[in-house]
Amino acid sequence: MTKKNDTKHAVKHHLHPFSDNGQLKKNGVRMMVKAKGIYVYDSDGTEIIDGMAGLWCVNIGYGRKKLAKIAKKQMEVLPFYNTFFKTSHPAVIKLSEKLIEITPDEFNHVFYTNSGSESIDTMMRMVRHYWASVGQPSKKIIIGRWNGYHGSTIGGASLGGMKSMHQQGDLPIANIVHIEQPWYYGLANDNESEEEFGIRAANWLEEKILSLGADKIAAFVGEPIQGAGGVIIPPASYWPRIEEICRKHNILLVSDEVICGYGRTGKWFGFQTLGFTPDICTTAKGLSSGYLPIGAVLVNDKVTEGLLAGGEFNHGFTYSGHPVAAAVAYENLNILADKNIIEKVYTKTGPYLRKRWQETFSQFKYIADIRTEGLMCGFTLVKNRETREFFEDFGTTGLLCRDIFFKNNLIFRACGDHIVAAPPLIISKKEIDIMLSIAAT
Ligand code: PLP
Repeated sequence: MTKKNDTKHAVKHHLHPFSDNGQLKKNGVRMMVKAKGIYVYDSDGTEIIDGMAGLWCVNIGYGRKKLAKIAKKQMEVLPFYNTFFKTSHPAVIKLSEKLIEITPDEFNHVFYTNSGSESIDTMMRMVRHYWASVGQPSKKIIIGRWNGYHGSTIGGASLGGMKSMHQQGDLPIANIVHIEQPWYYGLANDNESEEEFGIRAANWLEEKILSLGADKIAAFVGEPIQGAGGVIIPPASYWPRIEEICRKHNILLVSDEVICGYGRTGKWFGFQTLGFTPDICTTAKGLSSGYLPIGAVLVNDKVTEGLLAGGEFNHGFTYSGHPVAAAVAYENLNILADKNIIEKVYTKTGPYLRKRWQETFSQFKYIADIRTEGLMCGFTLVKNRETREFFEDFGTTGLLCRDIFFKNNLIFRACGDHIVAAPPLIISKKEIDIMLSIAAT
């Protein structure tokens, strides 16, 4: 599976992200050399099903020549110009208009970044600047959730609830607090219905607000469905109650759509599937289907008005609204819309995956909480599914399982002992069958 020569070159100089690089030097890497549709190919020419759409991002699938053409053309015409200091360019204007077209009416402004982490950091500075601008500078605390993932910059890793990340680099930073995740299977009381649990889990936010004081809280931030935390899908009662609490206590509501955005759940945005309306959306990944790095923070009119009142927002990146990335993202959104890709997830492949995912994994006694929404799915490896007993070292079994899939040329991911999948949105029913037949062997 790993070629000695490839491994030697791959890890000689490159420190890989989220990897034990010492182990990589010993055990090697698998070199990916090309990709098409839902498949990637390694240097042996082996065809591998990418059940993770890269890192939850290649929504339109690999190998779209049109995007390569558009990138080339834009590079020839205007490879770079910035959007600081009273300048703009046509590519970013077109993309902004397209984003406004696909968002609800009250969203009319976009701030560009290069990644999900930068979108999160931008949002963190933005919500504090907003409250300062509207005369409430004490509103600084941002509330996230345990097991949420919001990136790996100092801001993003602090806001995320991954304890292993907090342990490195002295995190979280000040004015970040967390509440528990809305994981029904893992945290519900005996005999508690999903609906009851959803309300109780949302009320943890209100308890936190009351204990800290609403006058100190800027925003609550959550992924509609926690992705890297293990595809944790909250009960339907959860998000509407969260929205109600945020409105009642005058706290901004932020939907981190870095994974859920751009079709993953069968609608343009995860908040539409989960039934709430945020003030701000942080996005990246599916915005360009990963073809080039670009992120966008989508801002509603209320927040925009406050920001405008505050004068200059001293924030931005050299590549905010990069012309080539913007041109590629624009075309990506057109492909998602024109080819009815998201609608197919909603009406066809999403329901089909739900049925087949259930059928495939319910036969295994060490698998529990089999769950899907759109083309995002997961299950949890357990010692005993009736008593909800987990394996002692939450994560070891997951990694073993993931490595077996990988050996069988299927990419799924382990998040602790949750196994998750999020294939490209163009996957067909037949390809879903092939993917699951490999997974079940
Ligand atoms: N937010 C969420 C919900 C994510 O899943 C991720 C990445 O997986 C991020 C933020 C960070 O994005 P990036 O890796 O592009 O910085």
